[in-house]
Amino acid sequence: MQEINLLREALKKGMVQKYNEDLTQEERLILKNKKYVQNYNSIEGNLKYLDCKICKNKGHIMVISEEDAKRNYIKKCSCMIERESIERFKQSGLEPLRQKYTFAKFKKENEKSKNLYNKAQEYLKSIDKKEWFFVGGQVGAGKSHLCTAMCFSLLKTKRLKFMEWVKESTSLKALVLDEENYTKELAKLIYTDVLYIDDFFKGGTNKADLRLAFEIINYRYNNDLITIISSEKSIDEILEIDEAIGSRIYEKSYNFNFEIEKDEELNYRLKER
Ligand SMILES: [Zn+2]
Repeated sequence: MQEINLLREALKKGMVQKYNEDLTQEERLILKNKKYVQNYNSIEGNLKYLDCKICKNKGHIMVISEEDAKRNYIKKCSCMIERESIERFKQSGLEPLRQKYTFAKFKKENEKSKNLYNKAQEYLKSIDKKEWFFVGGQVGAGKSHLCTAMCFSLLKTKRLKFMEWVKESTSLKALVLDEENYTKELAKLIYTDVLYIDDFFKGGTNKADLRLAFEIINYRYNNDLITIISSEKSIDEILEIDEAIGSRIYEKSYNFNFEIEKDEELNYRLKER
């Protein structure tokens, strides 16, 4: 069993490539032992979410070369792509909405909602440009629905964090005197590949709200990180509240900046019933 531990250590260090120079002599010896490799591959692991016949739920397999023992290596199993995607869903905070807010369920009843839907698709196709997506207007299912559906698509390949502005800004502001925990909690939001802020600036914008919003928006802006924002406020209203925050959002979401008017949003909700 000692060999397994050694290899686990090697895997932790990311030594899953062929001919990895960083493998120690000991690790190389383990990989040369065909019987051990076969044994190892047949051991059942305990990874969750899926049942994989290839790696037996260990997440990786040892590959042995018939011709040359030096070519034996450890390989990440293909099931890990799906496991990691599921894990990202769990971490994102969006999991409870997975069934409800899909693209298929988004209502395209008028020109504006059709256009919004098409723009969302266009946005996903050009995601490598790292532009931002902003949709403003009265709070309701239409905006959140579309943004959430986009997030599900992005979660297949990216780490994403869902921030409900009112809820999470309140708990962050409460931590403001506890610097260590404040930084830790804030880090979860600002370092992620994609951040989706729902109901941005809902519930008032006092000094603490503005400080927090600026910290988040400015970090995402400076580091070119994808950010999706829905808000009951329009971009003009945000600019009026705080120019530094508004101008950054405006600049980054220049090509994907939309507004749902009040009565349209109302229609969406009434029809949903
Ligand atoms: Zn597998």
